[in-house]
Amino acid sequence: MTRTEIAEKADLDIRTAAAYAEELCRAGLACAVKVPSTSKGRPGNAYKPDYEKVKSIGLALTINGVDAVLCDIRGNILRRGGFSVNLESESKQTVIQKILSIITAYTAAAGEDKIAGIGVALSRWLRPPLSVYDIFEDLAVIINKHVDIPVFCGLPISVDTYAVRRDYPSYENILVVHPGNVLEFGVQIEGDIPADNRRMEYEFSHYPVDPEGEKCYCGKIGCLENYVTASAVVERFRKHSGQAKTFSFSDFVDRVAAGDVVATKIARQMGTFLWQGVAESAIRLKMRVVTVFTDCDYVSELIMKLYSSGDYPFECVAFDNKRIVTAVAAAEMASFKTVINYCPQIFCRSSPIKSTV
Ligand SMILES: [Zn+2]
Repeated sequence: MTRTEIAEKADLDIRTAAAYAEELCRAGLACAVKVPSTSKGRPGNAYKPDYEKVKSIGLALTINGVDAVLCDIRGNILRRGGFSVNLESESKQTVIQKILSIITAYTAAAGEDKIAGIGVALSRWLRPPLSVYDIFEDLAVIINKHVDIPVFCGLPISVDTYAVRRDYPSYENILVVHPGNVLEFGVQIEGDIPADNRRMEYEFSHYPVDPEGEKCYCGKIGCLENYVTASAVVERFRKHSGQAKTFSFSDFVDRVAAGDVVATKIARQMGTFLWQGVAESAIRLKMRVVTVFTDCDYVSELIMKLYSSGDYPFECVAFDNKRIVTAVAAAEMASFKTVINYCPQIFCRSSPIKSTV
């Protein structure tokens, strides 16, 4: 892009455009190339993103440990590391020192190349109000105090939207849903995680799906979360089958796979209600791509069936959440926010992660 083109696109005067372009070159995010002049006169400079030199760091923090990656701009892993954590016997100080030394090591490994950003996926169990341990909510601020690299932080489910976006770089409205211990709802609107994501998640969790259902603690009748979270599903199954308290969601998934009639009925209800909530939110929020991770193949298949039997204004995939590595998604978030947003057409993933179950 020449400086004239930049000026036109960004609605700037030509000198300001050139100054910005030079600044990007100094920051290592773009480089200048000579282009022959189209009219009379000397050859001019054009600028292009120097994406081969751009790297990013992704960190995923859970109550069990830290997963860390150094990635190139295409999301390929160059280094991977991390450590396990026991928050009952290790201080925040220790955990943070370990994180900072990983960042130092990865910055050194990148050598001359630029670390454009650090993405952090911070588990909700390490934030108020759920955290019972020392709270890591200020982690981005702490990292920023130590390194001169922009840090972007989000809930893992929101960060995962950036892994999906890699497959659909021109789609800026993305929804990712995962029914786990809580009903996780990650959303990207116009390329960004909205500030009121948590409120949207709450509304989704309390979307009424069963008019015949129980009164929820929120005051409404038959809220979605009471049919789809792992604990709600296990509780429902235990009520009907008299299983012990140690019966887990993965035991439930095994029962469904084995064709247990009661388990299958509950899984069918889980998938049907989940789809009602997902479809309603996706239409209301004008989503283009919807991804549903469930930890039960039966439910994923049911969701794909319900999607194919209707006419919906969005694409939908259901897949196994192990296919997304949240630390990589965090690195991708940092790449998107610093570079890819400005030239999305270049960055399609070479082998899409999308799949139908
Ligand atoms: Zn409710």
